[in-house]
Amino acid sequence: MVLGDFSKIEVSEEMGGSMALTDNYDFDLLKNEAEQLVLYELESQLEAAGPEICRCGECVVDMAAMALNAVKPMYRFSLLGTLYAAQAMNEQSYADSVQQAVAQAIARVSANPAHD
Ligand SMILES: [Zn+2]
Repeated sequence: MVLGDFSKIEVSEEMGGSMALTDNYDFDLLKNEAEQLVLYELESQLEAAGPEICRCGECVVDMAAMALNAVKPMYRFSLLGTLYAAQAMNEQSYADSVQQAVAQAIARVSANPAHD
């Protein structure tokens, strides 16, 4: 798999405006289930963390983004329910990877916050 070769992708001036696929299909039905799981884990780890961890909007959203970039995405078609996510969380390895990614994100962001 070749990463980073975006030369063949043409981006229209009005993003999405003339893209037939997005006009004809509802991609809002696609949900990354990992998002919900990461946010849930982030909430519980922040509750347990000490007062030295900054919980401002900037830091917390930064932590969520960093953790989400580290875990395997779990896209599903939302009409099918949360079965896939439930199954994935039963896999200890996925639950572990979410926990680790969140712990790392909290440590990294609080060690180096985007603000002073
Ligand atoms: Zn902060």
